[in-house]
Amino acid sequence: MKLRGRVLSVASECVPLVKTGGLADVVGALPGALAPLGWEMRVLMPAYRALRARVAEAPANWTEVWREEGLWGGPGRVLLGRVDGLEVMLLDAPHLYGRVGGPYSGPSGDWSDNPQRFAALSWVAARIAREGAGDGWKPDVMHVHDWQAGFAPAYLAYGGSNGVGSVLTIHNIAFQGWAAASLLGELRLPADQYYPGALEYFGGLSSLKAGLVTCDRITTVSPTYAAELMRPEFGMGLQGVIAARSSVVAGILNGVDTTVWTPEGEPLAYSAKAMAGKAANRAELCAAFGLEVPGPLAIIVSRLTDQKGIDLVPQVMPDFIEAGGGLVVLGSGDPVLEGAMRDLAARYPGRVGLRIGYDEALSHRLFAGGDAVLVPSRFEPCGLTQMYGLRYGTLPVVAAVGGLADTVIHANPAAISAGVATGITFHPTDATAFATALRQILALHAQPKLWAQVQRNAMQQDVSWASSAAAYAALYQGLVA
Ligand code: ADP
Repeated sequence: MKLRGRVLSVASECVPLVKTGGLADVVGALPGALAPLGWEMRVLMPAYRALRARVAEAPANWTEVWREEGLWGGPGRVLLGRVDGLEVMLLDAPHLYGRVGGPYSGPSGDWSDNPQRFAALSWVAARIAREGAGDGWKPDVMHVHDWQAGFAPAYLAYGGSNGVGSVLTIHNIAFQGWAAASLLGELRLPADQYYPGALEYFGGLSSLKAGLVTCDRITTVSPTYAAELMRPEFGMGLQGVIAARSSVVAGILNGVDTTVWTPEGEPLAYSAKAMAGKAANRAELCAAFGLEVPGPLAIIVSRLTDQKGIDLVPQVMPDFIEAGGGLVVLGSGDPVLEGAMRDLAARYPGRVGLRIGYDEALSHRLFAGGDAVLVPSRFEPCGLTQMYGLRYGTLPVVAAVGGLADTVIHANPAAISAGVATGITFHPTDATAFATALRQILALHAQPKLWAQVQRNAMQQDVSWASSAAAYAALYQGLVA
């Protein structure tokens, strides 16, 4: 494969090293998906305490490729190594990252020096992008993720880009990397850029905004979320900043790991051509939760939060259950919503099953055994569970927001007759629309031939990383050309 270019990916998390959210999955998946397209990607991330220990276990596997004095209170060095086929550069600066706790917080909440901690990551990223690493590796593009790397495009732009293009991807606009205006100098940002059209943000600083106003391209994780971010209901204060740059904004859907999420890989395997195994999975799931469900068996695998619209579930379930439906919920989160799910399960024994907690293996059994997956989110940058639902012929019933709107085709009569319907979508995210969607899924389920056709359509959707990687590759190419 001809090498088209090199990309420095900059993030605070990366599977399989550190994960607190979907960001880590994307950062970890991109290098492998881009390699076949001729793009060589290295991931630069902090050497948190656990990662330092990993280095200490096998120091020979790591090479120092950068050294930096004066990194906000101490020196730093960058160690290059390979983890599960991934080329990783760890920024080792123990005074910033060698702490007991998570990437962003310790026992008593968020680290108070998070602005400096992630400014350091961004600073080193911009320097390596501009000058190349010590082993001669020089990127053509710097691709940074979320607020943690937001200052990197700013440092690159203000210090001279040396021809390196920059891309900023927003995974969740809710986190904006706020810092006090008094830190401007300490964060090595130019005083003359402190005005509303540049670095100033509601009287302070935001590393995300700094990145948004200085990068060459902005992406987010679905086309609909890209459009939504320019509106006040979704932009969370940054809508004007993003709208002003709309000509460089693109939405690129995340993919899923189709080797992990495949019904053919489940213990009771099935496929679009041999669906019998799905009934066996359903029976196993019902037995495990003591359920007997004559109609469609819905599942929810989710954080139990307001964002995910979980509060709407108790409002719509009575009618759905009355009409023959059932539900299995796997999730954890807001104690009030956990309580609401417990009440629901207690009220409908034999129809509603519940597991509070995080359980990846069980989530596979839910997707394999369920008939429909419910995702009534209020906002959803991309969303993964509706894509698992498509893969497994577990029809998605989703709010038409963000990536949910981009991945599910509503089964209206026209879509059904054209043979493209893959699920049910509803709008707005409220109990009335959700209840209507559930009546539609009940009606569809009552027509087995039609149901099977929509299942087939769903299972044929391409939700792999291949098309997303091609879109990123095209974006990089545009910056190099
Ligand atoms: P978000 O990142 O906003 O939580 P996504 O749908 O993008 O939502 O990703 C959530 C991921 O976490 C999915 O892979 C989903 O299957 C998984 N997940 C969420 N809750 C659980 C749980 N309780 N047990 C197992 N997996 C879960």
